Amino acid sequence: MQNLFTDVFDNYSTTRAKLGGVAKLVGTPDQNALLEEIPHRIEAYLKKRKISHLYKVKGSIGNGNIARVPWVGIFRKEITENAENGYYVVLLFSEDMSRCYLSLNQGITAVEKRYTKNFAWRKMEEAAARAWSYLDTAPDVWKGKIPLASTGDLGRAYEAAAIASYEYFRTNPPSDALFFENLTTLLKYYERLYYLFNENLHSLFSVSEEEFQSVVLEKAAQLNVSEHAKNIVGAPLTVNPLSNKYVRSPVVAAAAIQAAQFSCEIDATHWTFLSRARKQRYVEAHHLIPISQQSRFQASLDVVANIVSLCATCHRLLHYGADNERKSILMELFKQRRVRLQEHDLQIASNDFLRFYARTAPIDD
Ligand SMILES: [Zn+2]
Ligand SMILES: [Zn+2]
Repeated sequence: MQNLFTDVFDNYSTTRAKLGGVAKLVGTPDQNALLEEIPHRIEAYLKKRKISHLYKVKGSIGNGNIARVPWVGIFRKEITENAENGYYVVLLFSEDMSRCYLSLNQGITAVEKRYTKNFAWRKMEEAAARAWSYLDTAPDVWKGKIPLASTGDLGRAYEAAAIASYEYFRTNPPSDALFFENLTTLLKYYERLYYLFNENLHSLFSVSEEEFQSVVLEKAAQLNVSEHAKNIVGAPLTVNPLSNKYVRSPVVAAAAIQAAQFSCEIDATHWTFLSRARKQRYVEAHHLIPISQQSRFQASLDVVANIVSLCATCHRLLHYGADNERKSILMELFKQRRVRLQEHDLQIASNDFLRFYARTAPIDD
């Protein structure tokens, strides 16, 4: 293994420069190590432990564009077979080729698509930190964020999403014994998390009301949100075990805000300030039938028909206002939406509807 590491450290930057950014196979020692030899050694080790059928091992120098941070991934097939989704063990070489990490890391694409890129980086870090409360610390293991000296988005995502890692310097690559001992520890963590959380670690981060509304506005300012929302409507609502709350889709809420043209649906003349999210007016998404009532309905409450766009004051009025202040407003919104709700199999009498608001409902409901 030591020679193979050195082959990558010594040659990858030169190969990358020569190829001018294109991920072309030219059979250099670094490519040979990353794509053939290191994966083969890892496969042989898994075979020896009689667990090779559970994993896919794959090296990568990038797809189309050559990677700044090349890697060899060890994917638990039931969780994921690619680096975009789920979580996996991966050998990552830093962009400056000064070091590498064997890292239990997370795919970021699914969270990035559902929320935003910056949000995903933050939340991956949160999930990684929280995962540690379920793992026993092994000696020399690195917890959390790793420095890959990366100038690209993919590398920075790996930095943020690292859960547990071992660091090896170019000047002192690991012996086979050490490398496979470290791999054994990370595979043990991998199995533990799989046992606890299944195929992704998304339940390990929470989304506050403020974060939700700001992601919604950001998404609403993008084009084609409603097209995208159509595709994901009907997805079953999941409960985050951390908060014990249903997880709302920002894309669906964004489609509702877009449909309302960033105005308050109680009164379109209500003044709101311009938000930072691409200079649209600031409004908030509110689920008319509160999402906490999901268990009473077969059909999903997280649909555009059930989401109204409100100015911040009206939104708070609906959650915190005195009954005599909000009753007529609630009835008016209900009247406006009744038919659309019925079209989505959300049938409900007005009395029952009002009862959902009888107590103070949390704002993220
Ligand atoms: Zn609300
Ligand atoms: Zn309003």
